[in-house]
Amino acid sequence: MNADFFSPSLRRLSLSMALLFSASFAGAHEQHTHTHGQLTMDVAIDAGTIAIAVESPLDNLLGFEHAPRTAEEKKKVEEARAALKAADALWLPDPAARCTLQTVELHSDILAPAAPSDKGKKAAHRHAHDHDDAHDHGAQDGHADLDASIVFACEKPELAKFIDVKLFERFPNIRTVHAQIASPSGQFKRVLDPKSTRLRWGR
Ligand SMILES: [Zn+2]
Repeated sequence: MNADFFSPSLRRLSLSMALLFSASFAGAHEQHTHTHGQLTMDVAIDAGTIAIAVESPLDNLLGFEHAPRTAEEKKKVEEARAALKAADALWLPDPAARCTLQTVELHSDILAPAAPSDKGKKAAHRHAHDHDDAHDHGAQDGHADLDASIVFACEKPELAKFIDVKLFERFPNIRTVHAQIASPSGQFKRVLDPKSTRLRWGR
């Protein structure tokens, strides 16, 4: 990104606008800063569901951000994908809400290619699902992100007061989780670390 073109005040303005947009949960792929060790999750508690939108540098999950080259790297990609697909072992909603994992969507050219069965170059460049260009920004400067969308179906989502986050145990490169929660009792911001892994909100 060519930040040099912008004055510091303009950069501050665009940063605060980006924060505003991400707080609205309107877009699933708002740009967060790409900081290794930091993962962002937006939690939306709605009628019947708890939805979690995750954005993370791939380094947090793999230890690298390029397409896997060695057998060892390919194995890491497979293991990370499998771990994320089993999202109910990484994100454990308050049992009071009586949730079951409904869907997990992973968006990443490296971790979850759009057309894994077709290795042709044409397939790699074809967009199998529509998403905005910002989604791919990370790969251009040697960095790459994962965007994930996780939805739990819950009988009593309004009773949920916390989510236990097991990411730190599975992915030790993650040092902080920055979370925003939109719930019937209001909006909250929390920061988790390996010593504080329960995401709480409300009273
Ligand atoms: Zn990176």
